[in-house]
Amino acid sequence: MAVYPCDMNGHRYAAAQQSLYVTICKNGDTFTHKLRLCPMHMDIELGLIRGLMKPLEDMLEAGMVCDSCGARTEAIIFAKVFLPKQEPLQYVSDRCGGCQIELTNRLQIGNGRAL
Ligand SMILES: [Zn+2]
Ligand SMILES: [Zn+2]
Repeated sequence: MAVYPCDMNGHRYAAAQQSLYVTICKNGDTFTHKLRLCPMHMDIELGLIRGLMKPLEDMLEAGMVCDSCGARTEAIIFAKVFLPKQEPLQYVSDRCGGCQIELTNRLQIGNGRAL
């Protein structure tokens, strides 16, 4: 039984907690949000992340263009996914300013806690 409610809508659940860390590197600053999630909401997040970002091990170097629209990169977003009894999964995306906001809005990182 998780100690904390799920960050997506504050509901309680009887399962192991899963954690998602989303870090935004922009203009030399770094911001991280942590979300504590139930298995169902983590599944939804992971689906979005897999569709919108790329595995970190596929990144050779920071890209110069936005993964989404091809404009100049203004931010790099990292997602680190902690599932029970697994090594963390890591994803990354190069984004222009507008597409960075779109991505972090879709991931609803505002529901989590800024570290
Ligand atoms: Zn949930
Ligand atoms: Zn873009």
